[in-house]
Amino acid sequence: MRIITHISEMQAAADSFKSQGKSIGFVPTMGFLHEGHLSLMRRARRSCDIVVASIFVNPTQFGPGEDLDRYPRDEEGDCRKCEAAGVDILFLPDAKEMYPEKPFVVVVVEGISDILEGTIRPNHYRGVATVVAKLFHIVKPHTAFFGQKDYQQCIVIKRMVAGLNMGVEIEVLPTVREADGLAMSSRNSYLNPEERRRAPVIHRALSTAEQLVKSGTREPNALKKKIQAVLREEGGISIDYIEIADPQTLTPLSGAEKSLVILLAVRLGHTRLIDNILISLRSE
Ligand code: AMP
Repeated sequence: MRIITHISEMQAAADSFKSQGKSIGFVPTMGFLHEGHLSLMRRARRSCDIVVASIFVNPTQFGPGEDLDRYPRDEEGDCRKCEAAGVDILFLPDAKEMYPEKPFVVVVVEGISDILEGTIRPNHYRGVATVVAKLFHIVKPHTAFFGQKDYQQCIVIKRMVAGLNMGVEIEVLPTVREADGLAMSSRNSYLNPEERRRAPVIHRALSTAEQLVKSGTREPNALKKKIQAVLREEGGISIDYIEIADPQTLTPLSGAEKSLVILLAVRLGHTRLIDNILISLRSE
């Protein structure tokens, strides 16, 4: 596996692969890699000639008082994991390389960036869209792989690619979970043992709502109330939001629909976790 830290070198490598007619698959990450990240890399390995992964803890997507300074890092372990997952090139720029001066150019995907996560993290998706746009221009992928875990992010990226005619195919892969249902996340490392013991209630609450939908309940408020009740049974969890939404637009649903996504964000102590469940009904 080749490690590249400079943008110009990464672009030259990408140009060279393209001139040889090779397809480039790309997995952008913030590191502290787990099975969720690795599932994206393995998929890229299966479907593309060249696999590029990046690790960059992007400062512009963190708000004031968020966890930028303590975001977990393990460069050595990450390198080993990438290599084992079949990554050809690991792009590892530092913040000065990516942002030599203030990011005077920003990419804003209007509308979708301001709801749900965007209400709690106001500039988050402008930071995400800007860095992913830059990474796409640096790595020049044919296909980029993202996790459903960050559902709203996937829609932001797809809309950015469509809106700016970037010509990158976006593939979204299922959320990888721990055996007890907790969605894998680098931020799970913040949980103390007691919080970690409680955390699977998030997926339990979503699964309970899924069962309700499948047995005929479609009324969003009833579903939200059930999710709240399951979360409260565990205790020690505060809810940022629970939304029952249209899977394409994320607009809140008001009644019986054919498919829906339930998205939520909660806090356990100082740790903020997000999760979601996509429910497609058979009649569709
Ligand atoms: P991050 O390092 O958290 O920015 O995530 C990098 C990529 O991995 C994003 O596309 C995430 O959606 C994806 N990802 C994170 N956690 C998971 C998971 N548990 N399952 C699948 N993909 C994930």
